[in-house]
Amino acid sequence: MPAPPTPRYTKATLPTKICATCGRPFAWRRKWARSWDEVKYCGEKCQRNRPRPDPAP
Ligand SMILES: [Zn+2]
Repeated sequence: MPAPPTPRYTKATLPTKICATCGRPFAWRRKWARSWDEVKYCGEKCQRNRPRPDPAP
C-alpha cells in the first residue's frame, strides 16, 4: 500500500508546551515541525518579551 504523506502529528495528538513567557499552553504548529524541541514561546510576542533575554552575542 502506498503510504500517504502522514504528518508526524495529527489534530488529535498535537503536543502542547507551556510558553516560557506567558505561561499559557500552546499547541504544535506546522511551522515548528523541525524545531519543536527548541520552541519555548507561543509566539513572536512572547519570544521578544521573554523574562530573561539571552545576552546579545
Ligand atoms: Zn506566550
